[in-house]
Amino acid sequence: MLSTLRSIVQELNGINNLQEALDTIAARVQTAMKTEVCSVYLYDDKSGCYVLKATEGLYKSAVGQVRIAPSEGLVGLVGVREEPINLEDAQKHPRNRYFPETGEERFGSFLGVPIIHHRRVLGVIVVQETQNTRRFDEGEEAFLVTISAQLAGVIAHSEATGAIGGISVSGDQARDVAFSGVAGAQGVAIGTGVVVFPPADLDSVPDKRCDNVEAEIERFRAAVSAVREDVEQVGERLAPKLRPEEQALFEVYLRMLHDHALPGEVENRIREGLWAPSGLKAVVNQYVRHFEMMGDHYLRERAVDIRDLGRRLLSHLQEGESRTPEYPERTILVSDELTPAMLGEVPQGQLVGMVSVRGSGNSHVAILARAMGVPTVMGLVDIPVAQLDGRELIVDGYEGQIFASPSNELKAFFESIIEEEQELVKGLEELRDKPCETLDGHRIPLFVNTGLITDVVRSLSHGAEGIGLYRTEVPFMINERFPSEQEQKAYYREQLEAFAPSEVTMRTLDIGGDKALTYFPIVEENPFLGWRGIRVTLDHPEVFLVQIRAMIKASEGLDNLRIMLPMISNVSEIEEAQHLIYRAWHEVRDEGYQLVMPQVGVMIEIPAAVYQVREIAARVDFVSVGSNDLTQYLLAVDRNNPRVASLYHSYHPAVLQALCQVAQDCHDVGKPVSICGELAGDPGGAILLLAMGYDALSMNASNLPRIKSVIRGIDMDMARGLLAEVLALDSPHVIRSCVELALRKAGIGRFIRPERSGSGARELATSQE
Ligand code: PEP
Ligand code: MG
Repeated sequence: MLSTLRSIVQELNGINNLQEALDTIAARVQTAMKTEVCSVYLYDDKSGCYVLKATEGLYKSAVGQVRIAPSEGLVGLVGVREEPINLEDAQKHPRNRYFPETGEERFGSFLGVPIIHHRRVLGVIVVQETQNTRRFDEGEEAFLVTISAQLAGVIAHSEATGAIGGISVSGDQARDVAFSGVAGAQGVAIGTGVVVFPPADLDSVPDKRCDNVEAEIERFRAAVSAVREDVEQVGERLAPKLRPEEQALFEVYLRMLHDHALPGEVENRIREGLWAPSGLKAVVNQYVRHFEMMGDHYLRERAVDIRDLGRRLLSHLQEGESRTPEYPERTILVSDELTPAMLGEVPQGQLVGMVSVRGSGNSHVAILARAMGVPTVMGLVDIPVAQLDGRELIVDGYEGQIFASPSNELKAFFESIIEEEQELVKGLEELRDKPCETLDGHRIPLFVNTGLITDVVRSLSHGAEGIGLYRTEVPFMINERFPSEQEQKAYYREQLEAFAPSEVTMRTLDIGGDKALTYFPIVEENPFLGWRGIRVTLDHPEVFLVQIRAMIKASEGLDNLRIMLPMISNVSEIEEAQHLIYRAWHEVRDEGYQLVMPQVGVMIEIPAAVYQVREIAARVDFVSVGSNDLTQYLLAVDRNNPRVASLYHSYHPAVLQALCQVAQDCHDVGKPVSICGELAGDPGGAILLLAMGYDALSMNASNLPRIKSVIRGIDMDMARGLLAEVLALDSPHVIRSCVELALRKAGIGRFIRPERSGSGARELATSQE
């Protein structure tokens, strides 16, 4: 069964057409289970019924004709119960109903399994046998459940593909189809999708067509000759070291590159109008599927060689083409996984929105998007990215949705939200030079989180009073090697100078987790619990010391530097880091720099540090809470994983209690405490943190003006009253509602989201979750 299952799954994954996939499933399952009937019913939203879409064993004429309501028959019951129903004699079941047009009256044994994707029942798969012949056994039931789980992904993907092309699963015209992900950065954008993809990655090549077939074939042939030459050269070079059977591998590669083999098929695809990378992707995938389905282990392994060959051909094709896509006026950047480098490539002023398949609301790229004020949706797991290139899209960063093929009506609706946002921003500009204080005169400084130099310009114009968190890893991530001490000094000087004499808190390199350096890859099973932040830099004192020296040198004459250590989980890490910082400071002084010793602080972002905050705070000059990581670790919810995004609650009672305790304990030992996680830039979060006694809030530049406006609109009684109210509640959902209600009552509800957004779009659009 296992190998049958694997080969069905392989075959299924390679089919792009839904009807073909359903027909294949029905046929393969019928054969594999040696049963008389296998049928697939899909739920049709419009009619509210399950429609027979494919069958082996029932009358084919019934396909598309039989419609079963959820309240009808056994198929309906499987859908309602959301679990398998296995009956030896279906006739005796009170819910049994025959549909004469299918010819199913002969069949008595029934096994139906729901097809479920993300909690939504998409359909039901059924196998049937002649009356009283047998009951399907446990193994068969498990087999069908496994097939159904695979089929669910294929159907969801196909629904999404059809919807993007303007066609629903039932074949009707579909416009305004909404795809749900996770809100990444607030705001709305209307623009054109540009799919960006990592080099030599066949899977993420966008589906495009070519204008000049002959030129495209020439380009492809040049790539084939180049790869052929490479393979020959490598083969010759390695020949003396290889045994004959290993040398044969190069022969296999060369044979595959023969004109009549793979290249010929790619050329056929190009003649059909595809551009060379898409043609190559289609042919390579077809070969890979073919090999992976083979019973023989050796031949199955050859799929790896085909993939490798495909990558080599693609990389030569890409050498010849400009890798910089043409960015339209209003670019919506779309990628399987957005990276900071990709954002940096879009010309200034043309990036209006972003969409990422991977990642979630607290992924670092989402934080960067918020800092840049670019509306973003993350975690659109089922969306066929390759098809979004060149399409008109709407990004709704409030609700975490995108809309493809929007109607004029939907566009007009979102344009009105954009106008409302612009009015709100205009109103906030005049607050720039006003202090951040409550109506009753309680002052709290607002700092900014930075990483890119553009942030600095924006922060100054938004009235930030200093930098509460400079993420030094950002300049490391957009480089192709570790930046030198001189280069780092220049980056850091820019930040320090822009804000002098106000303080600038620079965090030491915090890589690992979802922040990768291409030139220093860290591959781990569990990266957020692995080698991250201070753990990496203490293991690499040469990297840490260069960074500290660069920071200290950059602060000469300004003396506004504060150094902050990320991911501290015990006091010895602080002591080791302090030892290295003193060493670097003495070295730099010995080189003749005139300096004061910068203050050194730590981030509290690991639960262990919450419990030890007194001991930690006693050893340092200041403490800053990283609520993004603290939330992920307290709740055991990966901040980067869209599947669990709905469990990432910044207002979870455990998170709020931890935040209260940190503020209290720091003050008890006489140390200042601030917060630099995203909660500080959330209107409700800022009010609660103010009431908890935080000394400063640090947030992205885009949120800063609205937080200032929120704080200037309330008094401390309101903040303390709200905190007392939420600390008595036990559910994060209820706490969120309670906070939102309080903001609305205080007349500042517009800062959560524009009044017009939300339900309006939902009424206009069709959901494609
Ligand atoms: C945090 O964890 O809250 C934080 C500010 O750091 P980062 O988001 O960069 O991990
Ligand atoms: Mg962190």
